[in-house]
Amino acid sequence: MEIFKLVFSPIQVNTFILADKSGDCAIIDCGCYDDDEFREFTGFVSAKGLNPVLLLNTHCHLDHIFGNRNMLKEYNLGAWSCELDELNRKNARQHALLFGLIMEEPPVPAKFITDNQLISFGSTELTALHVPGHAPGSIAFYSEKNGCVFTGDALFAGSIGRTDLPGGNYETLINSINNKLFTLPPTTVVYAGHGSETTIEREIKSNPFFRPA
Ligand SMILES: [Zn+2]
Ligand SMILES: [Zn+2]
Repeated sequence: MEIFKLVFSPIQVNTFILADKSGDCAIIDCGCYDDDEFREFTGFVSAKGLNPVLLLNTHCHLDHIFGNRNMLKEYNLGAWSCELDELNRKNARQHALLFGLIMEEPPVPAKFITDNQLISFGSTELTALHVPGHAPGSIAFYSEKNGCVFTGDALFAGSIGRTDLPGGNYETLINSINNKLFTLPPTTVVYAGHGSETTIEREIKSNPFFRPA
């Protein structure tokens, strides 16, 4: 599997393209804010000769689902997300206005993801890990074979997601990270929803939210 990262929207969200060797690819969080950004995305995908077959959402905050409507229109792909984030999806339009951003009503998900669900495309397999706390329906996507995990806004390089938004809870997030992410092999590469890559080992050792006093 090859991983490509594009950054979109005024909120600078990471959009990941996971390319299986068959040419099929899964998209994690299509953050394209407008049609221009979506054209940049489709141009990239077709230049690489890739065929999008899955749209996965780490959670349904506006920045992570900006592109869902265009993904449905262009590739006929409905998003897979956690049912516990339906409230965030339904509130996304209203939430966008607080940022001075305009978005259309995000489409209804094609499928709801559950904890430990196996998701496969081509010969690539991902395990969904429910990591609530930043959002009630936060999901991390783990590839054991590729030694990487896509953490959305749960865990960042040197930080964690905010917990002051509706459905957020600090203790819950700390527990999710300790129990679901920090138990992964230390060399696992972390691809977060914003910012740069890191590893599980580096975060265990140096993330200020966890470093022992
Ligand atoms: Zn978020
Ligand atoms: Zn975000």
